Amino acid sequence: MANYKIAVIPGDGIGPEIVAEALKVLEKVGTKFGHVFDFRHLLMGGAAYDAVGTCFPDDVLPVCRECDAVLLGAVGGPKYDALPGPERPEKALLKIREGLGLYANLRPAIMHKALSRACPIKPENIGDSMDILIVRELTGGIYFGEHSWREGKYGQEAYDVERYSEMEIRRIAKVAFEAAMARKKTLVSVDKANVLESSRLWRRIVTEMSADYPEVAVSHMYVDNAAMQLVHNPGQFDVILTSNMFGDILSDEASMITGSLGMLPSASLADGSFGLFEPIHGSAPDIAGRNIANPIATILSVSMLLRYALGLEAEARAIDDAVTAGLESGLRTGDIAEAGVTPISTTDMGQAILDRI
Ligand code: NAD
Repeated sequence: MANYKIAVIPGDGIGPEIVAEALKVLEKVGTKFGHVFDFRHLLMGGAAYDAVGTCFPDDVLPVCRECDAVLLGAVGGPKYDALPGPERPEKALLKIREGLGLYANLRPAIMHKALSRACPIKPENIGDSMDILIVRELTGGIYFGEHSWREGKYGQEAYDVERYSEMEIRRIAKVAFEAAMARKKTLVSVDKANVLESSRLWRRIVTEMSADYPEVAVSHMYVDNAAMQLVHNPGQFDVILTSNMFGDILSDEASMITGSLGMLPSASLADGSFGLFEPIHGSAPDIAGRNIANPIATILSVSMLLRYALGLEAEARAIDDAVTAGLESGLRTGDIAEAGVTPISTTDMGQAILDRI
């Protein structure tokens, strides 16, 4: 019987509601497959600010480092919007990514057949299915580059520097090439090499590395074209590799094509198998506390945790299949309910998935 330590950070807004359902699913997987999950609950974000006066308490990093993986709900909310930038819940997200060395963000954008009516794109442009994996660099680029304000010739100026080193590009590209090898062996690297020096370095490194992966068909696409192609013909993509900011934008675009933010999980990985797993959506303060949020993105984040951090593929697949079965039997939370369908609650959706494992 294997024993795994999981750090659990429910966070703010709908975070505690959706994480509660995900933990029940993890417990069920443990019972069914003979694993013990030992949860270490942590406060981060607004919940931590309210309890101990900081969004990023000192115990977060050491406790996470002792664990095999981290499960996060979401942080932030209007109550904390007036805090100065460095003290805000969203800053805690950047700190945990940096502190745990989580440089590789994997965001699958999968269209469930049962939800195809929620897709805003014409069916003929999707093809048989849409199953894209976006590999986004997470601890470099413009979000982490030098940024400041200064007095300029025409008043105040502000600047943010996009900077990438060869090492940072190589390690994220390796993740993308390996993901492509395990999938359809096609990789689109997205950059803005017609304008940016950092993108020219990015493209050169990816091109060099393609020699080590002769089976992977690599192409390069400018980010403006990629944004357009994603809505024009998303079915053409399999693995997309891109930088921090471009990945932030393209992955939200891809998620909307699948119908709902409430469906999509993500993994943020460090070297080795350690990672942080969370839904791609935020804390949804507009629906918090009402038991109506969709828990599927968080439940699928648990599936990614099992697959990527613990190497438990059969267990991960049991969750994926249970989610698919729930959707195919017509169960919907409000965000994915078609006209005429009565939505079910967060806890009922969690239970329905649990029952199908
Ligand atoms: P959001 O993703 O929280 O919500 C956008 C819309 O999607 C809302 O209408 C919300 O009700 C809906 N939605 C989101 N998740 C849902 C779910 N599981 N089920 C049903 N509907 C869902 O984005 P926002 O409103 O821009 O941000 C709210 C707060 O979350 C902000 O403080 C923001 O900074 C924070 N945020 C946190 C993270 C994170 O913790 N990783 C990510 C994004 C935003």
